[in-house]
Amino acid sequence: MKTVVKSFKIRIYPNKTIQNSLHENFGYNRFVFNQLLGNNKLIFDVVVNNPRINPHNHRPSINRSATNNWLNYFKKTYSFLRDGESTSLQSTCDIYNDSFKRFFNKQNDYPCFKSKKNPVQSIRLKNNNNSIRFENNKLKLPKCGFVKYKDNRIIKGDILSATVKFENGRWFAVLNCKNVIVEPLPKTNLSVGIDIGLTDLVTFSNGEKRKPITRLAKIESQIAKHNKNLSRKIKGSKNWKKNVAKLHKLYNKVFNIRNDEYQKLSTEIVQFFDLIGLEKLQPKNMIRNRRLSHSISQIAWTRLVDMIKYKSEWYDKIFIQVDRFFPSSKLCSCCGWKYEDLTLAIRKWTCSECGTQHDRDINASINILNEAIRINKECTIG
Ligand SMILES: [Zn+2]
Repeated sequence: MKTVVKSFKIRIYPNKTIQNSLHENFGYNRFVFNQLLGNNKLIFDVVVNNPRINPHNHRPSINRSATNNWLNYFKKTYSFLRDGESTSLQSTCDIYNDSFKRFFNKQNDYPCFKSKKNPVQSIRLKNNNNSIRFENNKLKLPKCGFVKYKDNRIIKGDILSATVKFENGRWFAVLNCKNVIVEPLPKTNLSVGIDIGLTDLVTFSNGEKRKPITRLAKIESQIAKHNKNLSRKIKGSKNWKKNVAKLHKLYNKVFNIRNDEYQKLSTEIVQFFDLIGLEKLQPKNMIRNRRLSHSISQIAWTRLVDMIKYKSEWYDKIFIQVDRFFPSSKLCSCCGWKYEDLTLAIRKWTCSECGTQHDRDINASINILNEAIRINKECTIG
């Protein structure tokens, strides 16, 4: 038996009073985040990027104690912050620090100011002294009291925090729990190599293929249409705002559909296979791809791979990522001959050495499988 950290998203139904209090707290937390960001910009503009004051271009690190000092200062200066839920303000500081950490690691863009107009608002509440708990079929949240919720799952584990989200008019709580018990899945003695792509979302080395989610195409064309409309409207006008709201709703829909599908697919993969080989994706290069639809699917792929990765860990399966320089598409999986001139357009080819006819993706996934098995052997022997 294994225990893991796991998140559960549940729909909640706060009453009007609680809703108002939550909206107020969204505001306090936005305020703290934006103040931190504003100060940081000021410090960089006036001090750090000024060669007279900072001749050696020293970059101050953004750390927890510095942000905490700022938070204390804000609380003293802006008395309204004292009405804010204190663990959420602390969490906002952590979120701020994390976003800079990721920025310095080149994992995301420079953090931007939080806007009241964003249809998705959230705060993270920490569970101190059992302040977040289930009781009498309700969820207790600090400062809010008891909130109705709807979810059929039995959530067993220790709640670390709850992120309360307002998403396009609906309320959710994402409970981050530790010590969630997961039972290992039965062993199947089956291994698989997986090729991820556009024509088929995944191709398994056993020849099975899965098409990309077809429902998405329709929504994506709606998004394209609304984007086009948006460019014709006056920025900030009533119609422009309506259009933006519509777009946000559609983006959200796409995210949720993908998320559901990927959750199902990744669970299925770890259920069926004991050893799973995948190619390493290179997010930064991929995003540079000129065709937007491609980049979007590629960002989504990293999410799928992450899911397979953590679920393999949960359920004691072996997850191996093959180096991206490994020529999985170009090698003949039968004899090892390398087809140097293989281009992206060639979907089927015949090996000039052994005459085997290949489906490009199936051949690639078989190569990924063989390479994963080789790496796994190396790891177990070494
Ligand atoms: Zn061959």
